Amino acid sequence: MRKPIIAGNWKLNKTPQEAMELVALLKRELSTVTDVEIVVCPVFTCLRDVEDILAESNIGIGAQNVYWEDEGAFTGEVSAPILKSSGAKYVIIGHSERRQYFGETNETVNKRIKAALKHQLIPIVCVGEVLSEREENKTFAVIEKQCKESLAGLTAEEMKLMIIAYEPVWAIGTGKTATPDQAQEVHKFIRDLLKKIFDEDTAQSVRIQYGGSVKPENTADLMGQADIDGALVGGASLKADSFTAIVKNTCGVKTN
Ligand code: PEP
Repeated sequence: MRKPIIAGNWKLNKTPQEAMELVALLKRELSTVTDVEIVVCPVFTCLRDVEDILAESNIGIGAQNVYWEDEGAFTGEVSAPILKSSGAKYVIIGHSERRQYFGETNETVNKRIKAALKHQLIPIVCVGEVLSEREENKTFAVIEKQCKESLAGLTAEEMKLMIIAYEPVWAIGTGKTATPDQAQEVHKFIRDLLKKIFDEDTAQSVRIQYGGSVKPENTADLMGQADIDGALVGGASLKADSFTAIVKNTCGVKTN
């Protein structure tokens, strides 16, 4: 059975003080949760403060991006060794906002994944189609290209360490959630693709999160789908009550 994983992507929100206040509440509210893996992804400069509070807790810490070189003349970048030493265990790679605003491509996603794995960071790799691609029935073709190119050259053993987040871009921050059936259809497609690229065992063990306007009210229906193994949560992860409710509404839903 795949353990569901709920990760909060805080994007460019929260000062260190606000971040510490939020994780202190989450730590208290979620301390008894054992059947859901919980992750928060603050901005880089909050990692260490958040780590101080979450050390020894059941909440893991992730970063929102990573550069592929370990060190050097790369102004403004952050490397995997630095993230690790700041408390990160996970890293979001290829988020649609990085693709849209910062020139992220499948090729650079691939480099970042390899750098993360080299330093034992768990990549959360985002894929997803924009609205026009869905309307033109190109969703599967887009997802296939993103997965094949982003995951190029990885071994099955490396793939098993990773998490994929299916995030239809038209559902991110818009309040429009994919229906459970729409999401499940793409999640199944991704799992079948992993079987073709790697093997059945790998496909069955990789967790595939859904992301796009997940909130407490739609969590259980989405998580109840056979191939949905958790959520990457943006807006609703910024408040303790909504993120806590999403985690709690995931508990006990998965039986596959
Ligand atoms: C995200 O940024 O990954 C996301 C899914 O955002 P939201 O939940 O706000 O749609």
